Order: sequence, then structure tokens, then C-alpha cells
Amino acid sequence: MHASRTIGGVRIDGGTPTPENPVRHELTDPATGAAWASVEYGGEPEARRALDSAAKALPDWAGLAPGRRAASLRAIAADLREDRLTAELAGLITRETGKRIAEARAEVGLSAAFFEWFADLAGSRSGRVWSHVPGLRHEVGERALGVVAVLTPWNFPVSIPARKIAPALAAGCSVLFKPSEVAPASALLLAEVVERHVPSGVVSTVVGEPAAISDVWLSDRRVRGLTFTGSTRVGRLLAAAVAPRFTRAVLELGGNAPFVVLDDADLDLAVDTLMVAKYRNNGQSCIAANQVWAPRSLADELADRFCRASDRLVLGDPADEATTLGPLALPTDPARVDGLLDASGGDVWRAATPAPPTGHFAGPAVSVRPGRDSTLVREEIFGPAVSVLEYDALETVLEAVAASPYGLGGYVIGPPRRAADVARSLDVGIVGVNTGSPNTPQVPFAGLKDSGLGVEGSHLGLEAFLSPQTVAVGDC
Ligand code: NAD
Repeated sequence: MHASRTIGGVRIDGGTPTPENPVRHELTDPATGAAWASVEYGGEPEARRALDSAAKALPDWAGLAPGRRAASLRAIAADLREDRLTAELAGLITRETGKRIAEARAEVGLSAAFFEWFADLAGSRSGRVWSHVPGLRHEVGERALGVVAVLTPWNFPVSIPARKIAPALAAGCSVLFKPSEVAPASALLLAEVVERHVPSGVVSTVVGEPAAISDVWLSDRRVRGLTFTGSTRVGRLLAAAVAPRFTRAVLELGGNAPFVVLDDADLDLAVDTLMVAKYRNNGQSCIAANQVWAPRSLADELADRFCRASDRLVLGDPADEATTLGPLALPTDPARVDGLLDASGGDVWRAATPAPPTGHFAGPAVSVRPGRDSTLVREEIFGPAVSVLEYDALETVLEAVAASPYGLGGYVIGPPRRAADVARSLDVGIVGVNTGSPNTPQVPFAGLKDSGLGVEGSHLGLEAFLSPQTVAVGDC
């Protein structure tokens, strides 16, 4: 089947110009494997035009009173919460990533919440006067960082851009947005919504060959900030690209979340929480539970209960509300996840339900007692598979987590007070204690080690886009 719809991949100054060297790329529906649309890619010329436009728009936008920018953010949030737009965006997310429709709607709601949160914060900040030295008055102001590049992944194609664009706009930055080429349609619609409420040039978007676009932006001194979410591999490339100009960067990268079950945990709660922490976005979340650690005496019982619960998942069309596990976004991922399980060295259980005949489906799977050095245990799985590892002493688990190059999400299940103590000892940035959903716009989201640099969410997510300036006034 050929794609019937063409989507403009370039949005500059509120319009969709035809790229100088137009190339079309097909988008496939993970549930069927069929092409449903094509995107017209932009390239270097469009990246340059977008940058010129963002640089031109910056002074006026940065010069507005924060409350005026906050009003724009609130208007964007109101649009996103409008039923028809929520449905349209959610439908696109499901179509291009395979995310279940209920989760896609929740993602749009979360995106609106990011705009609301940063609108509230923007309105609440003001310049401060510090007077510590006689005869010298220090005025400390906060200025917009400048033009910032926003590069985002496919797995949360609307809420991750929202988590970045909202604070950047609140701070007074202008934005160069490059969504993932895997899932650009919903991101382009988000960009269109944002453009309705900000002056021309404040947000420009280019979809295309990633390095061609980011090279233009990151090699130009006018770009003062980079905010990236994606793989550790690409994060390293981008960190190297901005190093020569010391461009400020926030990098939210890969994870390998431990899920630690304590010896006095309620196993039903452990299974219910693991179902959320593992199968969110069909297993393709940066904080997805990857390694389940259970006391030796409980490991088989826990694995057995989790396999039974996983066997009840309904694998199918993510647009169908009855589906509880959708396809994987990338066509090569079912075989990749299968390969990780085969090479894990554990006792591998696979769900009995057959995968639908078309599309990129992978059924739930569990590897019990895999090799600690297997790739399944050491690396991000990004699919509906998990390993179950046994421990005798909790210290072994804490040491293994500390030794992992990743340090993003984690989970602890047990009596709340004791589990929270264990959580504080885990070498990761965000931990769910008896919950599979630890993240909200109000709290910091930050990875340690190879999981990244800098913070998103909370007031710190706004500060990433602000630059302090001290003016010392003498003789007063
Ligand atoms: P990816 O690294 O392949 O792509 C992310 C973005 O980088 C995309 O926009 C892509 O076009 C761009 N890109 C790719 N190669 C590039 C290059 N050479 N130069 C410049 N840009 C380039 O990641 P993905 O597959 O889209 O997303 C999945 C990854 O993202 C996983 O590792 C996941 O853990 C991570 N992730 C992290 C978080 C977090 O908050 N820490 C959240 C979601 C996803």
C-alpha cells in the first residue's frame, strides 16, 4: 500500500515552505506494517532559514513580560485539552508509534500539564536585588538563554517536546525543533498548535536527516542551548558536537531500570506495579522496568504470577480500546528483543497468545535467572520483555545498580517506609516506591551517569533555559 497523505516536514514563520531539495519519506503504521502517509523532509537550507528566523524573533519574545509569555503557554494548554484536538493528536501518536490509544490520550493531557506548570512558574519569577557589600548594590536578573535546539525521540512524540518547548518558551527562548523522523506527524501538529499562540519565528520545526539539521544548528554560535532526549549513543555524539562552543546542554538518555522487590513485599502489589512499569508504551519507555530483583525465596513465585498476568494481555490494534499491548514502533524490534531473550542464558517464558500476522508485534516474555552479563540484563530492552534475577543480600542489588552505566529510573516494592529507605540508596534519578508512575511535571526528571545531564520538570526545568546576569552598581 502506498501512502495517501503528504505531511510538510518544515514549519518556518508559521508556514510550511516547500524544501529546496524535497525528499519524501514514508511513515508506516506499526500495527499493520503499511505506509499511511509520507513526510516531506527538510535539509540544511531549511535548518539555516529556521535558525535565522529564530534569531530574529528572539529579542522581542525574550523582552516580553513573563506573564505575557505565560498567557501564551496557557492558551496552548487549553487547545491541547480541547476534545477534538486531543483525539486528533492521540490518533496520530497511536498511528505512528503503536502506543495504545488510552495512553496516547494521557500523553496529550500530560503535554498540556507541562504547558500549565511552566506557565505558572514563568509568572512567578522576578529579578532580585542583593546587597551584601556597603556601597555596592547587586541587581541579579534572569535572561533567556537564547535560541535553543530541541531534539526529541519517537517514544513520547508529543509530551517530550512539550516538556522542553514549554520551559524554553516560558524563559523567553526561541525554539528550533527537530522531532524524530520515526514519529513526526503528531509532533508537527503540536508545533502547529504552539505557533498559533506565539509570534512568528519563535518556534520553527524541521524534520529530516537528523545530523544534517543538527550540524547546522549546533555549529552556530547563535544557538545557546541544546535539549535532547534519546539514546545514549546519539547523546554522546551531540555532547561532542556542542563541546567546542560550550553550548549549554540538557541530555535525557537511555535507562535500565531495576525493579527491586523486598522480602516483605506484597506480591500482588509487586505484580500490579510491574505490569505498569514494564508495559507502559508497550515496553518502550526510558524508565521501563528492565531487571526485576527478587529475594531467592520469592523469585519463582513472583515470576510465575507475573507470567500469568502477562499472559492475559490482549495483543492487537493499539487504536482498539480493548487492546492492552500494542506493537513495537520499529519493524526490526520484535526480532531484536527475541534475540536478547535467546542469548540471555535464562529460563525463557513467552506468552502463549500468538502475535497478529501483520505489523511489528512482540508478545510478553520473561527470562528467569539470565546471565548477569547478558545484554538483556545490562542494556535497555525497549520491548515487552524483562529479566528476573535473584538476590540473597540487598547490598548485592545496590552494588549492581551502582555499577550499571545507567542511572535513570528505578522501583522498590515493600512496606513504604523501608522501601523508601532502599529507594534513597539506589543510584538512579527517579524511583517509584509501590508505584509504576513516578513522574509528574512538578518534580525533577534527571538521569545520572550515562543516562544524561541536566534536569527536566520542576522549577529546575525552567532554570535550564535561563541565564543569570549580575549588575553591580557602585557608589550608592
Ligand atoms: P535516538 O537517539 O535514535 O533519536 C533521538 C533523536 O535524535 C531523534 O530526533 C533523532 O532523529 C535524532 N538523531 C539520531 N541520530 C542523530 C545524529 N547523528 N545527529 C543528530 N540527531 C540525531 O532515540 P530514539 O530511538 O528516538 O528514542 C529512544 C531512546 O530515547 C531510548 O534510548 C530511550 O531510553 C531514550 N529516552 C530517554 C528519555 C529520558 O527522559 N531520559 C525519555 C524517552 C526516551
